[in-house]
Amino acid sequence: MPPPTLPPAAPAPVSAEVRLAYVLRHFRLAYPGAPDVAIGYASQQPRVAIADLSTGFFDGNAPHPAAPHWRAWQGRQVPFFFDNAAAESLLIFQGNKAIIAADIISAAFYLLSGWQEYFSSERDRHRRFPYGASVQQQYNFVTLPVVNYYFDVLKTAVEHVSGQPLHPRRWGSQQAGFAAFISHDVDNLRSAWKAPAKAALKQRKFGLFGKLLWQHLTQPDAWDNLEAVAASTAHHGAKSTFFMLPSAKKAPNGTPNADYELTLDLERRLQNLRAAGCEQALHTPLGTDDSYEALRNTCRRHWSLAMRGNRFHYLSWEPRQTATLVNKVGFPFDSTLGFAEYFGFRNSYCQPFYPFDFTSSQAVEFLEIPLNVMDATLHHPNYLQLKPADILPALRPVFAEIKRFGGVASVLWHNENFDPANTKNGPQQFHEIMTHLRQQGAAFLTGGEIWQAFASEDSAPNF
Ligand SMILES: [Zn+2]
Repeated sequence: MPPPTLPPAAPAPVSAEVRLAYVLRHFRLAYPGAPDVAIGYASQQPRVAIADLSTGFFDGNAPHPAAPHWRAWQGRQVPFFFDNAAAESLLIFQGNKAIIAADIISAAFYLLSGWQEYFSSERDRHRRFPYGASVQQQYNFVTLPVVNYYFDVLKTAVEHVSGQPLHPRRWGSQQAGFAAFISHDVDNLRSAWKAPAKAALKQRKFGLFGKLLWQHLTQPDAWDNLEAVAASTAHHGAKSTFFMLPSAKKAPNGTPNADYELTLDLERRLQNLRAAGCEQALHTPLGTDDSYEALRNTCRRHWSLAMRGNRFHYLSWEPRQTATLVNKVGFPFDSTLGFAEYFGFRNSYCQPFYPFDFTSSQAVEFLEIPLNVMDATLHHPNYLQLKPADILPALRPVFAEIKRFGGVASVLWHNENFDPANTKNGPQQFHEIMTHLRQQGAAFLTGGEIWQAFASEDSAPNF
């Protein structure tokens, strides 16, 4: 059931030209320097001709198209929406032209734009679009960046007709084959003592409770650890991006925001962390993803954080509003779009991208650095319950896909999960992930550095 406050879907028309321009812009961002070959629907007689198979889908408001047709591509089974299953060959070369039998423009647009989220009225108890309502869950491809596979088909076609090889984006000063974005949402700095103190009370161990309370009042909390977090990340040659939550007030339904205040003392510590190369951005509190006023007021009060980027607390994101609101307040980048319930690719894409604003039928101006892996997803009563030894093996294939297409591995590890008492999704599991990413040759970049890499190259108009 949709929550009673869900705004109605009121999209502007999405024409074939808009879809084509939106998708090709991202294709050219994925392969900088790609030759300017005419790519389009067959009726336009381009050199790379794509079958037009959307059959009015984008004139309607159904959240999901017909089931995809699975094809083998580069050793993977890949789901193709808007495909002609009767066409045996996906890609045909005719002289210096190429014909693609599946409508990969429509399929890429469908996934990248978040069409399913906009038109679905399913929301979870935090009013988010649930993984359970997604095509990624229905057809089991959340760990496959399907849009990158579509682009790989297109790349092969462009290489054939142009005679030039295309190369994926390179990252950082070392021109690495892929990037990693390591971030920490700072929700809690003062609450490490609470769970053990509660347990002591329940077990009527009043002596232990008294000791824990005394420690809490006289010593720093184990979660008050931002410098230690930065040191753990720096140990792997990376720099942390901290998302700071500037509200200690609970949401009206009782869901907590921060357990700390942004005091002058904390500001000073953040300054020192910045001097050491870390970055800080805004972690917008509950209730800001669907209210322009609330979002704007938070940004005004915390402009120095807001101007560096954003992620919504609880990964709150109302698909019918948030992209429009974020665009209006003007964050350079956002990094909210991942499924809390499962690691992988919410928009089936492993590169940063410009979300689609359905109310204006064009791309937004802020860059989305999608979130692939959140610590809580891996072990939480509401999400997965992976054993510690199973975490890295589960993630390795996801990182391999990102490396394959020159994307960004975005990993969120909350500062509270650097507490050595956490042996489920704690510092040891973070260390294993970082060691793996380093061995694979990732360039570790902050959110701001990733945004810069796009801002300097993409001078294309806003379609
Ligand atoms: Zn949070």
